[in-house]
Amino acid sequence: MKIVLLGPPGAGKGTQAARLAQDTKYEHLSTGEMLRRAVKSGSEIGIRAESFMKNGGLVPDEVVIGIIEDRLKSDGAEVSHIFDGFPRTVTQAEALEEMLGRIDSGLDRVVYFDVPEEVVVERLSGRRTCSKCGANFHEKFVPPKKENICDKCGGGLYQRDDDKPESIRNRLASYKALTSELIEYYDKKKMLGRVAADREPESIYADLKKTIGLN
Ligand code: AMP
Repeated sequence: MKIVLLGPPGAGKGTQAARLAQDTKYEHLSTGEMLRRAVKSGSEIGIRAESFMKNGGLVPDEVVIGIIEDRLKSDGAEVSHIFDGFPRTVTQAEALEEMLGRIDSGLDRVVYFDVPEEVVVERLSGRRTCSKCGANFHEKFVPPKKENICDKCGGGLYQRDDDKPESIRNRLASYKALTSELIEYYDKKKMLGRVAADREPESIYADLKKTIGLN
């Protein structure tokens, strides 16, 4: 099974994908997380991606497509993937179809996380991320037990550069200009399911599972 989670930054895709991966056989593929790791390691991909990410813009298509291509080649059709934050442009969506075709696979479902812009801004601006394991918290909604310390691994929490106000505005602009087109793209292909994502994580998770046929 191959599932795509679609929606604006801050819609909760990452949180839900991580939970699904914990409860099922799905592998969580977050291009944002893969890119952050590449930046941290100082690899060639990381060096290319860093400035785009800092400003809240999109990393060039060929870079992210290359990352996903490598992973699909090594995992193959048998591994169930949940794509979080990929594709983000029509070019990426077309490339994904082609790459899956090459390994005799295809997308099973695309889930659109529907959430108003003001909710997204509040979620992103209060988000704190673990510098060690990447887990997300929120200073108001999901505070860690100990201030600035990750509940899961004890790592230090920080605010991502792209969760600062100017970058949030740019990320939302990129989303509106490029990624939102994918809603219609997948709707036309009859692959799109919608989940109202401005609710409690528990209800979103229940709806997500229903939408992808898990109960
Ligand atoms: P995310 O963690 O999904 O919010 O992604 C963080 C940042 O990584 C984005 O703001 C982009 O700069 C970059 N990024 C992640 N996924 C993609 C993608 N599919 N296409 C282009 N840029 C991406």
